[in-house]
Amino acid sequence: MTLTEKLLARAAGKASVQAGDNIWVNADVLMTHDVCGPGTIGVFKREFGKTAKVWDRNRVVIIPDHYIFTADSLSNRNVDILRDFAREQGLPYFYDVIDDPSGAWKFDAAKGNLKRQFGSNYAGVCHAALPAKGHTRPGEVLFGTDSHTCMAGAFNEFATGIGNTDAGFVMGTGKLLIKVPETMRFRLEGKLQPGVMAKDIILHIIGEIGFDGATYRAMQFDGSGIATLSMDDRMTIANMAIEAGGKNGIFPFDARTAEYVNARTGLNGTKQSYEPVEADADQKFVYETVVDLSKLEPTVACHPDPGQRKTAKELSHLKLDRAYVGSCTGGKTSDFVEFARVLRGKKVVIDTFGVPATPDIVRDLQSTRWGHQTIWQILEEAGVRMTENAGCAACLGGPVDTFGRMNQGGLKCISATNRNFPGRMGSKESEVYLASPATVAASALTGRVTDPREYVGN
Ligand code: SF4
Repeated sequence: MTLTEKLLARAAGKASVQAGDNIWVNADVLMTHDVCGPGTIGVFKREFGKTAKVWDRNRVVIIPDHYIFTADSLSNRNVDILRDFAREQGLPYFYDVIDDPSGAWKFDAAKGNLKRQFGSNYAGVCHAALPAKGHTRPGEVLFGTDSHTCMAGAFNEFATGIGNTDAGFVMGTGKLLIKVPETMRFRLEGKLQPGVMAKDIILHIIGEIGFDGATYRAMQFDGSGIATLSMDDRMTIANMAIEAGGKNGIFPFDARTAEYVNARTGLNGTKQSYEPVEADADQKFVYETVVDLSKLEPTVACHPDPGQRKTAKELSHLKLDRAYVGSCTGGKTSDFVEFARVLRGKKVVIDTFGVPATPDIVRDLQSTRWGHQTIWQILEEAGVRMTENAGCAACLGGPVDTFGRMNQGGLKCISATNRNFPGRMGSKESEVYLASPATVAASALTGRVTDPREYVGN
């Protein structure tokens, strides 16, 4: 069995399963957020009754993160619905925007977008917050009402996005009927060159198979090159499995996984024990390919979908209007480090936005010094508009007052986010070009798509 099959067999209490089997699996964690949470709660109450209790209050994790820093009253109200539900159910893992458990969330537009407006429990973008707060454990099953839930596959778990109806059912029962996906294997070998990042690996792969090339399939990333990738790198890759239509992305467990997970589980009262899965010798794949990491170049996915692959060099004629670094995929500490490495001591020439994924990342960037300056100061001095209000921000467009949103048609943005279908970051007439934070940085310096190796050397 492949990693995904082994994991699903265990979650179903079976000795073995094969692709195509329909099985009931037990969920370890159900995550929801402010956009889908109210709908999920509505389904749960409708089907299980107004006074029903969730199947396990320690396994339901609620993370508001999407439409938070906006004056839109309906978006603010969604956070209040989550708070009421968490209080009613006694949920220990609700990462509220405000500290007052009986208060109401209201964004104060008069204070502007840049200065922190959240309380001490707020955790930022759900997919980055889940591992940081100790909710991802090898060998487990994670369901989330968000397509990029697949990011947790970096931790050797089966993690996938589900709709509100399924999530309402999981909320009540802790179970879900799943068809075991076929597995595609991507054997990563070698090591990336300087200036080439994990984002380039996954953009290369999606370009190879197309934005629907892995529809309802597991994408298994293994091979000796995995050892060269940090957990942040693996998260970037697993995050974008869904951009090829994948059911899930999954990595093997190794010492690096253990180090990351062991340092975070338990801190928050979360469960510390886990049991990773190892693939069998006789795995069956529906597709298999080898990716030589040393040969990859800085890569861009052009408008209008994540499969439109070109190298950054091929696009050097393309003029840009703005640059954006942020999101679960591209707003981690390591992403901002590479962004700053290229920008240090230089000035951007187009509007450039920086949105850390979580408050912890804001803290990292404001406390890590390179010489006499913090990384945050280096980015601000380069002309980047950095916000402390960690969250999804313009990755998903959002209400019109969302920081970094593309409100005008005709704008071209190079972005470290993960999705670029028309209208994704705002206006349907704008265009989004997906790239690594290093490529976004180099492009922000020139105003056209630029290979970052021109700045970091070969
Ligand atoms: S940062 Fe973007 S991709 Fe990630 S959860 Fe938020 S909206 Fe979705």
